[in-house]
Amino acid sequence: MTLLLGVDNGGTRVKLLLAREMEGRLEHVRTADAPTPRGPSAMDELAALTRTFLADDRADAFGLTVAGILDEASGLVATSANMRWLEGLAPARELSDRLGIPGEAVQDGVATAIAEAVLGAGRGADDVFVLALGTGIAGAHVVDGSVRKGAHGGAGEIGHIATGGGEKCTCGQSGCLESLLGGTRLGARWDRARGVDAQSTALDVVLAAERGDGTARAILDEATTALANGLLSLMAMIDPGVIVIGGGLSNSPAWIIDPAIEKAHRRATFHAVPPIIRAQLGSWAGAWGAVLTAAHSRSGERRLERTELV
Ligand SMILES: [Zn+2]
Repeated sequence: MTLLLGVDNGGTRVKLLLAREMEGRLEHVRTADAPTPRGPSAMDELAALTRTFLADDRADAFGLTVAGILDEASGLVATSANMRWLEGLAPARELSDRLGIPGEAVQDGVATAIAEAVLGAGRGADDVFVLALGTGIAGAHVVDGSVRKGAHGGAGEIGHIATGGGEKCTCGQSGCLESLLGGTRLGARWDRARGVDAQSTALDVVLAAERGDGTARAILDEATTALANGLLSLMAMIDPGVIVIGGGLSNSPAWIIDPAIEKAHRRATFHAVPPIIRAQLGSWAGAWGAVLTAAHSRSGERRLERTELV
């Protein structure tokens, strides 16, 4: 039996998850969360939180999520927009020195994707594409529990594939999926169509559509068509076994996910349309991804089964 610790060091909360691994099966032991320590003493405070959480248990390894650009070879954080104090540090080494436990860092988006692919909605499939629909749109192609990053580390940028139209994207291109479906863009497009400056959110647009607002419905229709086209492009390019859709916008399935899936099925010709499933692990996905990273650092194995939900 191995005890594995996942530390999901998020922008506002740090989530701690202790799991027991036995013969390829992961079992939840306990969880806790606390405000994320900030500033120069953050690593000391994080180590103290972790020690309290572990109490008399001794974890065999930990995984630690990093919100930022992580150099995997050195473990150094290159940039972190929300946690400047991590820049130039190797946070897993810092925590390892303080706790006396070996550990590895993992980029937060990667952690979420591998968790959903291996333990969540993609469980049982070897080839999973995980899509996060939030303010931006991110993607990760997870094969056998590892994210395929491409030759230059830039793979998975499904938010910036062109899906038609002339809407300008933050990346400089026009017609990107993100320019039509990104959370802030939905609200902005609705405001612009109505000629108001209301800083509406994606949820505002969904609620308006539910009330029967024709403009909101037209904007969502255009966005879900773009998502369907993006999903078909994905199938044509990588033929995934499962597509998992998470992120804030996935919480409005009736207006975002379901119409996009229906359109993808309707428009598919040669494509093998795989199961398209909503993410299952919610806000604990990052912590489970950190646990999988801990398992990987010990045994090189990420293909584990989860036997119990948090
Ligand atoms: Zn773009």
